[in-house]
Amino acid sequence: MPQVFRPSDNILRLKESATLAVAAKARELKAAGHSIIDLGAGEPDFDTPEFIRRAAADAVEKGATRYTPTEGIPALRAAIAASASKPLERAPASHPAITPAEVVVSSGSKQSLYNACVACFGPGDEVLVPTPAWTSYYEMVGLARATAVPVFGRQDNSLKVTAGQLADAATDRTRGIMICSPSNPTGAVYEMEELSEILDLAEKRGWWVISDEIYLRIVYGAPAPSSLEATRSRDNLIVVSGVAKAYAMTGWRIGWTISPASVARAMTALQSHTTSNPAAVSQHAALAALTRTEEADAAIAEMVAAFTRRKNAVLAALQPYPSIRYIEPRGAFYLYMNVEGFEGAEDPGSAFAARALEREQVAIVPGSAFGTPNWVRASFATSESIAVEGITRLARCFTQSEGATK
Ligand code: PMP
Ligand code: GLU
Repeated sequence: MPQVFRPSDNILRLKESATLAVAAKARELKAAGHSIIDLGAGEPDFDTPEFIRRAAADAVEKGATRYTPTEGIPALRAAIAASASKPLERAPASHPAITPAEVVVSSGSKQSLYNACVACFGPGDEVLVPTPAWTSYYEMVGLARATAVPVFGRQDNSLKVTAGQLADAATDRTRGIMICSPSNPTGAVYEMEELSEILDLAEKRGWWVISDEIYLRIVYGAPAPSSLEATRSRDNLIVVSGVAKAYAMTGWRIGWTISPASVARAMTALQSHTTSNPAAVSQHAALAALTRTEEADAAIAEMVAAFTRRKNAVLAALQPYPSIRYIEPRGAFYLYMNVEGFEGAEDPGSAFAARALEREQVAIVPGSAFGTPNWVRASFATSESIAVEGITRLARCFTQSEGATK
């Protein structure tokens, strides 16, 4: 008798990644010959800088083709520790430098976030998720068999949450918070004081803080503070980062955590049974990215300058449409737009995203993916002209629809 696949409980409780589903749909439509403006993808459109590509090719020639230590090659862990320690010198409180024992390299910050969730949370635990948040947080907490508790940010605070709101949402089952600054999907940045208040609260309550800082270097204006600078103690803090966004290295799949050594050991054990180690060649590429700082800083500055031009152009394109509300991005490369009331739909973001794709050939991600159905996310990680054309079509589509002016 043919075996019938009955998904396990793990899979039954899982929702497929909505961000990746939009990317797949846009790719499929393009392959079928449709001319799609893809504002869905949260992926820099730049090539990985040449010096990094060359370093990887050299590493392969020199034999970087084998398994590595599970937690990553020592040189890369040391480089991550050194690079993350730099801002600590200017931190208000004095912090010891980060050591390689606190660093675990993984196959992307997505894996690091998952490692952290599985290491720290389990059945019965509640995890506060400032919402809107990146779609995978909710699912990762679920895969750890814990419960994600959304805590909604207010629009007049750029949809960020305060320590007070987190305290109000906590129960005696609360075990942690997952925070992201600069934020995907809003581009909002938590100020030093806001972060410190949240970290202090977590320390007092004995919660884990998983701080996703993958967009830290993509900012428009003042640098975004790291939780490493804002915290008084690193005992309950797990910082997640990687090379994907700032270095345009999405496909290389390298991320990492900075955490207490005990947590690092637990995550290494987990990784030892799942991926063994991140790809050797990619680790050498990341090593070049983190140690050849002059070249890296120049490449990042150039990419951030391009993102800045696109952001400004996109906001200028929205000027003629004052009824459209959005969060002004201070970092990352997303524009979060409010489409509340769109044709009276129950899930206005999904209805609008479907309409935008069908009628305007613009791919965007519905806000329901991020826990806020009244919104949609448009990525401007694409050329300035495409981003502007896409945003203009979205604005037109929204304002022309009946009932959109609520
Ligand atoms: N965190 C956030 C907020 C993201 O937007 C992404 C994008 N994929 C990731 C983590 C994962 O990045 P990666 O696994 O490519 O390092
Ligand atoms: N983080 C990006 C996004 O939000 C890439 C896709 C994904 O991994 O979710 O679109």
